Amino acid sequence: MFNVVRNGTTPVSLASRRKYDSEDVWEALNKVFHKKCYICETREPHDINVEHFVPHEGNEDLKFDWSNLNLSCSRCNNIKLVKYNDLLDCCDPNTDVIRAIKRLPPSTPYAKKLQIEAQLDDDKTKLTAELLDKVFNSKHTPNKAITSAFLRKKVFDQYNLLLEQLNRYYDPMALPEEKTIAVERIKLLLKPSSPYSSFISWCIIEDEELGPILKDFIGVAE
Ligand SMILES: [Zn+2]
Repeated sequence: MFNVVRNGTTPVSLASRRKYDSEDVWEALNKVFHKKCYICETREPHDINVEHFVPHEGNEDLKFDWSNLNLSCSRCNNIKLVKYNDLLDCCDPNTDVIRAIKRLPPSTPYAKKLQIEAQLDDDKTKLTAELLDKVFNSKHTPNKAITSAFLRKKVFDQYNLLLEQLNRYYDPMALPEEKTIAVERIKLLLKPSSPYSSFISWCIIEDEELGPILKDFIGVAE
């Protein structure tokens, strides 16, 4: 989960209240969510849905409300179901969904678990952390165990890109300009449009030297 700015105008097709997933809605959602599932942060997943953040249950206002439409992959959509309907809202500018939940990437490609930990004590944060734990660590069915292992490996691949830049930055032989380039590349990985940016963000938050340098690039929507 990452911070999103729902800027721009409401897709016109929603006004007619016939379809909530017309082409203009898809186009607008792809732009706002950077083609990422808002829950697992996979970019361009195999299967993606227009999801009602708060289930509409027949309520027409909620069904066609632009601010209630999110982009989520089928797997997350299926895990979320109705139990998780009071989550942190990644589109709320007053909620820093990155810092609210600590997430660390796996230490190896086949690590059994990712660390996911609520940093605040309110129900929304705790429920969102519980959902993320299920998405990344679930073993409750054989299928979910396989797909969550696949997901953890994808997070590791992204973490590997960060490690490359960290090695360049902390190389005792690094020249100032090489350090600058490494920092610029880390900024790319921190962008909400990059896959699994919340995990990369937490690596930087936890880093004593880079944390303060890059703090303004964490938890900001684009
Ligand atoms: Zn997902």
